[in-house]
Amino acid sequence: MGIDAHTTGDGQDAQGNQSDAVVATAAERARRRDRAVRAAVEQGIVGPEAPVVGLLDVEGIRESARGLRDAFRAVTRAPVLHAFAVKATPLVPVLRLLDTEGVGAEVASAGELALARAAGVPPERTVLDSPAKTEAELREALALGIAVNADNPQELDRIDALLHAPATGRTGAYAATSPTPATRSPIGIRVNPQVGEGSIEALSTASTTSKFGVALKDEGARDWVLRTYAQRPWLTRLHAHSGSQGMPLELMARAVAETYELAEEINRRAGRQQVDTIDIGGGLPVNFHSDADEPTYARYALLLAETVPGLFDGRYGLVTEFGRSLLAKHGTVLARVEYAKTAGGRAIAVTHAGVQVATRTVYAPTSWPLRIAAYDAKGRPRTGPAVVQDVAGPACFAGDLLARGRALPRLEQGDYAAALDTGAYYFAHHYAYNSLPRPGIHGFTRADGEVRFATVRAPQTLEEIVEEAGGAHLSALTDLDRTTSADDPS
Ligand SMILES: *Cc1c(COP(=O)(O)O)cnc(C)c1O
Repeated sequence: MGIDAHTTGDGQDAQGNQSDAVVATAAERARRRDRAVRAAVEQGIVGPEAPVVGLLDVEGIRESARGLRDAFRAVTRAPVLHAFAVKATPLVPVLRLLDTEGVGAEVASAGELALARAAGVPPERTVLDSPAKTEAELREALALGIAVNADNPQELDRIDALLHAPATGRTGAYAATSPTPATRSPIGIRVNPQVGEGSIEALSTASTTSKFGVALKDEGARDWVLRTYAQRPWLTRLHAHSGSQGMPLELMARAVAETYELAEEINRRAGRQQVDTIDIGGGLPVNFHSDADEPTYARYALLLAETVPGLFDGRYGLVTEFGRSLLAKHGTVLARVEYAKTAGGRAIAVTHAGVQVATRTVYAPTSWPLRIAAYDAKGRPRTGPAVVQDVAGPACFAGDLLARGRALPRLEQGDYAAALDTGAYYFAHHYAYNSLPRPGIHGFTRADGEVRFATVRAPQTLEEIVEEAGGAHLSALTDLDRTTSADDPS
């Protein structure tokens, strides 16, 4: 393969130190963020009227998409579809941006599919996963020609029925002689190689008892998979996604290796390349401790090529489904410090960013710590001695803290606190506690020497909050039991 992990841009040298390129990228990323915060304050993107916003670094997103493409191009000549896991950042302009970078969409609900379609992601670059696909969702995906990964035998029964019922009237039981069905959708099965858990249980999808996919090591499961592919020549893909954040790379690579071995076995039995594409899922962990990409896509691709060389010899097309690693480092929550106070000797900055934009961090602070950067009222990085302080959110419960006991330059009233690395699974995942509005999200780039912003998502208005809280059904409950004797059926 001619791949040398020590020289091929894997982000680390032989001693495991970050490469100069990774360090330089990180420094430039931090500079762009500082400039954007300053400009956001100067241009009124954030301020008393908009005390919390999400910022997205367009250049950074493009850079990560390129890094992903290049990493896999370096290890295989076979076609690779990179499908962004929409759940990580379900924002139409983000999907559009990624599409222009050649990155498609992995969707897991009717809503996510609607977002991908609204963004113009073509069906051939869209993949439908999800453990609970309804018949209607399956029908739509097959009609559109979107790739589908069946989660379990019952779902495959439904696909059988959808593909063959119109012609034969049959459902359920499937005969080996069935013709290739009339859909352009590539269809596969999701398997769970059961390689084990990472450090965050809720995100470990390859545990023994994970709810996802066909649990390969369960009794009879592997035979069922082999039989099922033998009976259905149109099953051409195999899918595994072994988890997100907290999974060691080696465990992820092992799950891919297990999936590859299964594909090889299916193909040996078929006497041909029946499985022509392996979907290796996403899950590259993100470094929440600095601006550096660590691990890099290049490092993961090289590890895969070393662990599973056969997967990269050109016989298999690949699908990837990265989410967090594409967007996390390019998002910043920027929140105004409304009040600075002390309690029991502890300095507390009460900001407008809390549980509504950083739900995971607030409810599971040890699993999801966030870096906080301090800026002054003009948006300049705050300097000064570090003071141990809490950075609190606006919600009415004591645990609503972005950071506890964090040593930072002391935040003053009118300053700004930035929660970093929040481009995935944070501000795009609004939690409506206290009827706090969804904040506006703004993309930024540099043009003609200054920072230019564009609205990605407008802030939620009070009218929208009332409407979403049933405002149109004002008297629904008071009228329900107020029946007149004329129309009372009793
Ligand atoms: C969530 C998910 C992904 C993306 O995971 P990340 O950790 O964000 O990369 C990919 N595939 C499937 C099936 C998922 O559920």
